[in-house]
Amino acid sequence: MAESKRSRRGERTPKTGHSRAIVQRRDRSMPVSVFGNVMKQFDAAARKLKIDPKLLEFIKVPRRSTIVKLPLQMDDGSFKMFTGYRVQHSIARGPAKGGIRYHPDVTLDEVQALASWMTWKSAVVNIPFGGGKGGIMCDPHQLSEGELERLTRRYAADLNDLFGPDVDVPAPDVGTGPRVMGWFMDTYSMKGSHSVPGVVTGKPLVLGGSRGRAEATGRGVMLTTREAARHLKLDLTTATASVQGFGNVGSVSARLLGELGVRLTHASDVTGAIYNPDGLNIDALTDHVARKKSVLGFPGAKKAKPNDILYADVDILVPAALENQITGKNAHRVRCRILAEGANGPVTPEADAILDKNRVCVVPDILCNAGGVTVSYFEWVQNRIGYFWTEDEVNRRLEEKMIAAFDDVLRMAVNNKTTLRIGAFMVAISRVAEVVQLRGIYS
Ligand code: NAD
Repeated sequence: MAESKRSRRGERTPKTGHSRAIVQRRDRSMPVSVFGNVMKQFDAAARKLKIDPKLLEFIKVPRRSTIVKLPLQMDDGSFKMFTGYRVQHSIARGPAKGGIRYHPDVTLDEVQALASWMTWKSAVVNIPFGGGKGGIMCDPHQLSEGELERLTRRYAADLNDLFGPDVDVPAPDVGTGPRVMGWFMDTYSMKGSHSVPGVVTGKPLVLGGSRGRAEATGRGVMLTTREAARHLKLDLTTATASVQGFGNVGSVSARLLGELGVRLTHASDVTGAIYNPDGLNIDALTDHVARKKSVLGFPGAKKAKPNDILYADVDILVPAALENQITGKNAHRVRCRILAEGANGPVTPEADAILDKNRVCVVPDILCNAGGVTVSYFEWVQNRIGYFWTEDEVNRRLEEKMIAAFDDVLRMAVNNKTTLRIGAFMVAISRVAEVVQLRGIYS
């Protein structure tokens, strides 16, 4: 990346003139394999199931991982090379499904982990999808809109044969959004000379997106937290919460939990952390973040240390930022009663053991944040039938799916005297294994 395009906190990008988001780089001194973490979660659940080990071996690993080198013509006429990935972990229950991440730290290990979680997530909420994930190692905030569009189109064109509404259906993830999905859909559609909206989800509404998709993940976090609280007999009207990562998932989770009476006392983003024991006004904080691109400076709130967000004395903690936030090193400091994983993989297997011992109820990512893929499924269905539901209809169907999934996971966990995470993996692995067994193995 040319030096002139590099920028530090709060600088304006020379290309766009917009205030830049800050990209959090992964701590490379901490070589945690995210895919290794998923393997550990899988193994712990698989040990409790009576499934042929050879079948488990087959469904555990990604079926196809593709790495592609992408040339991009920059605005100044020069060329730059980028590395892109697409991993299809499973297509046993339906098309591979999962987002595309644009981030400088994207690695094959991370994409494989995220693709794998997508398989188990889709199975937990019982939708007819497998799991996939993609990514390009780039900092989207360092690229102009034109460069982003060309990079997206090149990625979609180079990997064109991998995708399709019946094959592999991407969606947004960190660093991508509806705009990128629109370009992706258009590039794919060029192949057949007609529009194929069902090739991606998370599109802008006018391109065939679904009502309720933008809020779906946070809504799922609220619904599963509500069900967990009901199970634990925790009164939400007097409960407090802390949210790490006041972005899409974090802010919507906070707002919808707030509607149930939960008081948000702590919040953070990549720029810093704040708290107010009397409660943060969530709508006002959302407006503040939209304007200032930071939670800092929010009127009435005091500045907190970033990790205080994780260790706050609250009833509910929602990590909604990145992977590997709560590890074997700091899990003993977590004091909440319910830890609702808005993000993918915020808690490592080592941390899980400590949290379980300390009676923290972890609502696992593959259940907690599955609202997003569930409404992506609704979007795909609406694209196929060419008829669009109202937001109330989408939310009603989402609630039905999330409650059913929570009940299935809770039942499995209670019957096997285990955690919700292992219960969720057991539900998911059983569903995928059953399908593979019935289809038979073609060899
Ligand atoms: P987002 O970019 O809207 O929000 C991420 C937030 O995390 C931002 O506020 C960012 O400032 C903050 N952040 C980054 N690093 C941080 C740090 N070190 N400490 C504190 N805050 C930090 O992204 P999002 O869509 O809300 O996704 C958040 C997480 O949820 C990701 O792990 C993503 O994979 C997962 N997820 C998202 C969806 C979805 O539909 N958006 C679905 C399932 C899972």
